[in-house]
Amino acid sequence: MKIKRRGILFVVSAPSGAGKTTLCREAMKKLKGVAFSISYTTRPARPGEREGVDYRFVKEETFLEMVEKGEIAEWARVYDHLYGTPLPPLNQAIEKGEDLFLDIDIQGASQIKAKFPDDTVAIYVFPPSLKTLRERLTHRDTDPTPEIKKRWEKAEEEIAMYPFFHYFIVNDNLEEAVEYLANIVNAERHRINRIQELKW
Ligand code: 5GP
Repeated sequence: MKIKRRGILFVVSAPSGAGKTTLCREAMKKLKGVAFSISYTTRPARPGEREGVDYRFVKEETFLEMVEKGEIAEWARVYDHLYGTPLPPLNQAIEKGEDLFLDIDIQGASQIKAKFPDDTVAIYVFPPSLKTLRERLTHRDTDPTPEIKKRWEKAEEEIAMYPFFHYFIVNDNLEEAVEYLANIVNAERHRINRIQELKW
C-alpha cells in the first residue's frame, strides 16, 4: 500500500542552555526523512559555522527586504540580532510530505503554530534543573557578563511559556532525550488525520 500524507513542521524550542541544538542534530542522525530548516540571521557566523548549513548569514537590510516581500514565515529579534525562517521550504515540505525540524525561539514557535496550525508540532525542551541551566550559561568561578545575565533572565521568562507547546522533553540524558524526540516524530507521522491519499 502507499500512503500520501502532509509534511510536518517540528518546532523545537527551549531556553538558551537547554542543549536543544545538539538534541536536534543527534535526533536527525537517527531519523530518516527529516530535514533541517535553515534560518536567515543577521548575526555574524561563529567559528566553525558554515553558510547555508548552520544559517544563511545576511545583512539586516537584506533580511528586512525579504520580510517585506513576504518570503519569511516568522521572524524575531533574539539577543540583538534578527532570525527568520524562509517560507517557501515550509510550504514545499508540507505539500511533498517531507518533515522539517525548526530550531527556533519561542516567539518564532508561536508564529509558526498560528500560521500552520494543522501541520505544526511544537516541542519544548526543559533543562534538567535551573541549577544545570545556570551552570551551562555561566562559566563557574567567573562573574556572569551582562550578556549571560540577559540570557539567564530571558531563559526564566521562556520557561514560563511551556504550556503553549504540545510536547515536552527533559534534556537530562542526551541519549534518552534523543529517543523521546524520535518517538514523538514517529507517533506524529502515524496520525490518521495527516493522510491525504491511500492507494492499494
Ligand atoms: P544562536 O545565535 O545561538 O544560534 O541562536 C539564538 C536563538 O535564536 C536560539 O534560541 C535559536 O533557536 C533562535 N533562532 C534560530 N533561528 C531562528 C529563526 O529562524 N527564528 C527564530 N524566531 N528564532 C531562531
